[in-house]
Amino acid sequence: MRCPYCEVDDDKVVDSRPLEEGSAVRRRRECLGCGRRYTTHERAVELPLMVVKRSGLKEPFERAKLADGISKALAGGVVSPAVVEAVVGEIEEDARAAGPEIPSEHLGVAVLEHLKAIDPVSYLRFASVYKGFDAVADFEAEVVELNKATAPKRRPGSH
Ligand SMILES: [Zn+2]
Repeated sequence: MRCPYCEVDDDKVVDSRPLEEGSAVRRRRECLGCGRRYTTHERAVELPLMVVKRSGLKEPFERAKLADGISKALAGGVVSPAVVEAVVGEIEEDARAAGPEIPSEHLGVAVLEHLKAIDPVSYLRFASVYKGFDAVADFEAEVVELNKATAPKRRPGSH
């Protein structure tokens, strides 16, 4: 960092403390040329989107991983990769809007909502393997919901 007083580009950090709950850092620097002190503020230009797992562990959001999960759920081959890409894009956009941290369950639910619309069979497959729906009761409840939604004879006005 170039010293604002003497313009020597040589300094040491004498103090460093988090600001705004850790999203920024304030650094007190000492110029090794003239010995004067000045302050810098540092923040990430782009906040990484973090996925918070049920265990509480956080990992960076991975587009490829999400696309892979959806592709596997759509193993029937009825849906094109372009559709998968579009779905991943929408989910990522929503997640970033809600972020910078998103619970993994929310991602799973978002995937399910999209799958339900594009391919009900894949939706059930994904629901059955997705961790948030590993309890048999959850899965059965989803099947009931799906049957309601896809029932051939629906009265007008009912959902
Ligand atoms: Zn200086």
